[in-house]
Amino acid sequence: MENGVDINIRADIPLLEDVIYLDAASTTPTPKPVVESMCNYFYNYNTNTGRGAYNLAVRATKEFESSRKRISKFVGSKPSEIIFTKNTTEAINLVANGLNFKKGDSVVVPNIEHHSNFVPWLNLRKKGVNLKLVEADEYGIIDHSDVLDAVDANTKLITTTHVSNAIGSVQPIKEIGEIADENDVLYLVDAAQSAGHMPLDVKDIKADFVSVPGHKGLLGPIGTGFLYCNQEISEDLEPTNYGGGTVLDVTESDFTLETVPARFEGGTQNIAGVIGLGTAVDYLERIGMEKIQNHSKKLTAKLFKEVNDIENTIVYGSPENIYGIVAFNIDGVNAHDVAKILDEVKGICVRSGHHCAIPAIRHMGAYELGGTVRASVHYYNTVEEIEIFGETLREISKFFG
Ligand code: PLP
Repeated sequence: MENGVDINIRADIPLLEDVIYLDAASTTPTPKPVVESMCNYFYNYNTNTGRGAYNLAVRATKEFESSRKRISKFVGSKPSEIIFTKNTTEAINLVANGLNFKKGDSVVVPNIEHHSNFVPWLNLRKKGVNLKLVEADEYGIIDHSDVLDAVDANTKLITTTHVSNAIGSVQPIKEIGEIADENDVLYLVDAAQSAGHMPLDVKDIKADFVSVPGHKGLLGPIGTGFLYCNQEISEDLEPTNYGGGTVLDVTESDFTLETVPARFEGGTQNIAGVIGLGTAVDYLERIGMEKIQNHSKKLTAKLFKEVNDIENTIVYGSPENIYGIVAFNIDGVNAHDVAKILDEVKGICVRSGHHCAIPAIRHMGAYELGGTVRASVHYYNTVEEIEIFGETLREISKFFG
């Protein structure tokens, strides 16, 4: 053990030897066992799934479906409720474009969402769908009673991110789930910044849909993600990618759809990626989600304090209500300059800009400043790394102060 982090995760991620990686909110580096499981596929059974009768193809199908089983167990669902996608954005678009939205329907959505959980709903205006915006407070927190106020007879769906990628604020997803349930409205939770960082039980939050990236908190490979879709409503969702693998029968004039989830997974899938994602979920379970959560809470508190203690910084988000992410600016200094200097001076990787959440950046009054600097952590980070980050930031702020 080193600074509370199991030494193996550091050994499993060689990239961490050279840099201080504080950009988990964008994507996470892939641990060796995950890469090795994909190499095993490429070297030993690189065949297509669901098609061939020969042994290698049967093995690929078995491994692919075994990943689905393990992932579904990880989030508390049935295997058939997991639809693989290439990222979170695709998962959300499947819901926005696959549900039968009609003119006059409304979608309740916070005003600080990532573009991927905002633009697909905005785009539905073409069909005459209205957006009911729920305004976050100054710390980026949604009040669930405002969500209730926004619901009316026309509401078809409520959505919210669990943890805001721009602010780190944690939304009351259970309370909102109750509201959706009591009002018989569909509910989509965007778990892009929480899955793999804390325990996730899709049934407990009463979500109909949960969008999850494989490549962020889950420590899976780039190009993976999935949509949890509650079986009770999966028949209401139309596929958006028709073709091979999505049908049971085809005549010259018609077709019969496959069962769920195959009907949503058109064409050859990211087989290696899904196999890697299954390994990633096993890897997280071996560490233990509670252990991960406890360490991340500790790192987040430390990160907030390091930044907040510097006199001329503006920190967005409240220390009691952020998780894994601290967004800030040094007064009068461009966010990209701060990020560039952190990298040049100490190899510290943070994101700067609007983080694909321009409405959130505007909400925080940071648009004119070029956005914010965002530091984000995962289990592989150490307290010592956060201290080095804090010291370096202090130096930068003194230089410009
Ligand atoms: N939703 C949130 C809250 C995010 O933070 C992100 C990415 O940062 C996305 C959606 C989009 O994720 P992906 O790149 O996997 O599509």
